[in-house]
Amino acid sequence: MSENSVNTLAPAADDLFWQANSELITESDEQLARIVDQADLPALLAAIAAATSNTAILAEELRPPLTPVDTKNHPHGGMGEEAVLKGKAVALSGLIQLRDQQITATPALQPQAAEEILAYLSNGHSEWADMLKHELSILPENSGAPTWQYEDFAVAGKEFTALIVGSGVAGIAAAHRFAQAGVPFEIIEASARLGGTWQKNKYPGVRLDTPTFGYSYSFAQKADWPHQFAQGEEVREYLETVAAKAGLSGKIQYGTRLISATWDEAAGQWEAVISQDGNGVETRRFNALISASGQLDIPNIPEFPNRDKFAGIQMHSQEWDSSVDWRGKKVAVIGTGASAYQIVPAIYQDVEELVVFQRNAPWMLPAPAYHQEVSETFSWLVRKVPHYAQWFRLWTTVLGIPGRFHTVRAEENWPQAPLSVSRKNHQVREELIDLLREQFEGHPDLLKHAIPSYPPGAKRMLRDNGVWAQALKAEHSTLEVSPIVEFTETGIMTADGVHHEVDIVIYATGFKPSDYLDGIEIVGREGLRIHDYWQADARAHNGVTVPGFPNFFMVYGPNVGGVVAGSLHFMLERASEYALKAIHEVLKRDAKALSVTQEALDRFTAWVDAENRQMAWGQPYVKTWYQNSKGRVSQVWPFTNIEYWEATESVRPDEHEFLR
Ligand code: NAP
Repeated sequence: MSENSVNTLAPAADDLFWQANSELITESDEQLARIVDQADLPALLAAIAAATSNTAILAEELRPPLTPVDTKNHPHGGMGEEAVLKGKAVALSGLIQLRDQQITATPALQPQAAEEILAYLSNGHSEWADMLKHELSILPENSGAPTWQYEDFAVAGKEFTALIVGSGVAGIAAAHRFAQAGVPFEIIEASARLGGTWQKNKYPGVRLDTPTFGYSYSFAQKADWPHQFAQGEEVREYLETVAAKAGLSGKIQYGTRLISATWDEAAGQWEAVISQDGNGVETRRFNALISASGQLDIPNIPEFPNRDKFAGIQMHSQEWDSSVDWRGKKVAVIGTGASAYQIVPAIYQDVEELVVFQRNAPWMLPAPAYHQEVSETFSWLVRKVPHYAQWFRLWTTVLGIPGRFHTVRAEENWPQAPLSVSRKNHQVREELIDLLREQFEGHPDLLKHAIPSYPPGAKRMLRDNGVWAQALKAEHSTLEVSPIVEFTETGIMTADGVHHEVDIVIYATGFKPSDYLDGIEIVGREGLRIHDYWQADARAHNGVTVPGFPNFFMVYGPNVGGVVAGSLHFMLERASEYALKAIHEVLKRDAKALSVTQEALDRFTAWVDAENRQMAWGQPYVKTWYQNSKGRVSQVWPFTNIEYWEATESVRPDEHEFLR
């Protein structure tokens, strides 16, 4: 064992998947050179600098310029040829050093060294450093773990208990952070299993459409993901494992649904009416209510005329019935969004006939590795370079900060509207159309309908490795663009007078995302119902708190969804941490609760709205599910992760009323 394995990072880690040691490197210099050739240099150099305690290797000239991604990724963050050559030489001697000195662990990272590595990866963005430390989760004082403990405030007879509603990605984040602070909580889940969207969506082909290493908790950094874009079942298993490692599995009350919660001002408590499968309804009291009940949860099934007359099978993508055998059948898929993009390529080869009903074509970003496993080189690096996976995840996070914002920001009076919103956006449009031309070569009729008539980025862009075009080009496939007029007993009639005879109809028609807290009655101060307060336009300060609803916290509430940048897990970990900070403020003051002011929410909403109006999805001629029925963009966070980090840094007393 090497000297460096003494006083390693392990005690500092806030990571449920922590592995202190990697395997010994035994490869020859030539083999190592081949590995370096295929590695992502910034992540590798950062890992080597940390493992060898030598940040001097991170020379200024080797800094990745972070060339923003558009239709292409830029290898090594856009490092120039010369820098790449030098970087490879440095990485190779680093790997040789790890091998020769048998280094299998990273020594405890000194603050100065951490700053230097972060400055290297972020190309000198010192204002990103704190957020990146949170994401790296190696320095104990900078992980998202609470820095206070409930027991320091606990008073007998005045216990504080929270109710967390939902055990999907958000609920698990919240529960873990609450458990770390020692704040007593119950967690309920309406389904029979945890995992939220990942246990519900079981359709063929379901998988991530963001890179796997950009889709995990900072406190649960799994290293051995098999796929570059994880399959649905892999994500669900990850969530099960996280919950188990965090000690949450046995705590979740399954088959248990929140029906209503009413604020009792005198007691300073929420009175929650909860139903339990098979056990009726009961009322329980909590001091805080944390809604983690999901954003894309309620299927949108359009009311096509005579839908009920159809004698075949109909199912929404989220309500996939695994007993239905679609093989050899005539299948209709309605919708061409993210779910359809995964279902159609997964089933088309085995069905007798396929009809895809398209209203608007999707924009697709090239992702050649979409269905690929991680490379052998990548898994070697993960096994043999100390904490490589952790540095690679951080590198993914760094690239995700600016993301693709520069491609969707609108220019005023842009002449090519409504096809694009700016020069850059138009360039992206042209490049993506060129790719479509290649994919649909020899199929001019399909190509015509494959080109969207709205700006790239106005709706969620899909990841494409060519399978969508392949499926639509198949001889037994039809792309129907004529609107659906009605269903018949045996199929679907379109406006062009064609009757499509089908056995199975799959609704890949999305969700009702703007209906936050649909089906749950939340009644705040003075009997105010949250849906009456919102009037179909859900708003929450920092996406978390709502005026008049004390100690009510939304984890993944309105206006916090990232669409061209950032990490979902960061946003909802941070929302959970913000909720805990609020509870800390309440406990410190010996108050009952806190309620955010209307002014604070209005300021927040005006800030977010102004920015959303600058984006492709905020243009008046664009129609997207990011907007609610009032036309306001209520889904999207239009800034980077850094602005959210700053916005949620503290719970400002001047923005809150404390209830005693
Ligand atoms: P979606 O993106 O909203 O797509 C719904 C599709 O149905 C659109 O093509 C829409 O057409 C069409 N549609 C809706 N109502 C219709 C009607 N009345 N008649 C005809 N067509 C209709 O829904 P989704 O594919 O389920 O995806 C929703 C979101 O879930 C995604 O944006 C993404 O955030 C998430 N998701 C993620 C993954 C992943 O990570 N792997 C996978 C699936 C979904 P228009 O475009 O004309 O509205």
